[in-house]
Amino acid sequence: MRKPIIAGNWKMYKTWDEAIQFVEEVADKIPSNDKVDAVICATALYLPTLVQMQAESDLAFGAQNMHYENEGAFTGEVSPTQLESVGVDYVVLGHSERREYYNETDEAINKKVAAALAHNIVPIICCGETLEEREAGTTEQKVAGQIKAALAGFDAEQVAHMVIAYEPIWAIGTGKTATADDANQVCGAIRAVIAELYSAETAEAVRIQYGGSVKPENIEELLTKEHIDGALVGGASLEPASYLKLLEAA
Ligand code: PGA
Repeated sequence: MRKPIIAGNWKMYKTWDEAIQFVEEVADKIPSNDKVDAVICATALYLPTLVQMQAESDLAFGAQNMHYENEGAFTGEVSPTQLESVGVDYVVLGHSERREYYNETDEAINKKVAAALAHNIVPIICCGETLEEREAGTTEQKVAGQIKAALAGFDAEQVAHMVIAYEPIWAIGTGKTATADDANQVCGAIRAVIAELYSAETAEAVRIQYGGSVKPENIEELLTKEHIDGALVGGASLEPASYLKLLEAA
């Protein structure tokens, strides 16, 4: 059985005070990580303090992006070495907003995955199709291409510990969720790609999240599906009560 993983993606939301208040409010209500991995992906600016505040708890933290180089003249960037040095456990890689607004390529994402693994940071690798691609019937082709590119060069053991997030772009922040069956079908297709590249065993081990307008009202149905092992959640992760409900559903 794969353990569910619920990751809040705060994007560029929350002031410092709001972030602290959120963490104080949820701190003693996080379910045991025997049952679910609870993650908050916040701005890198807040991560060291949040990690320290929660050192004894089952709430883990992630970055929303990083560079693939360990150090260098890359003004404004955050490195995997820096994230590791402050105790960050996860990093979201290849989110569609980064692919769209910051021209992030499959090749760069592949390098970032390698950098994350080298620094003991679990990558949450995002993939997903546009509305046009969905309507043209090319969803699985698009997602398979993104996953093959992201995983190029890794062995089965490495891949088994990664997290993949299937996020249809048309469902992000729009209130439109893929139906649980459609989401499950694409997550199943991703698992089939991994089985083909590696083995059935590796495919069974990888955790695949769904993301795109997940909220307390729809998470339960999504999580009943065979191939959906959790969620990457934007809007509904911003309020403590809503985030806790998502964790409870898992
Ligand atoms: P949303 O965002 O839950 O607000 O749709 C999901 C995401 O972008 O990860």
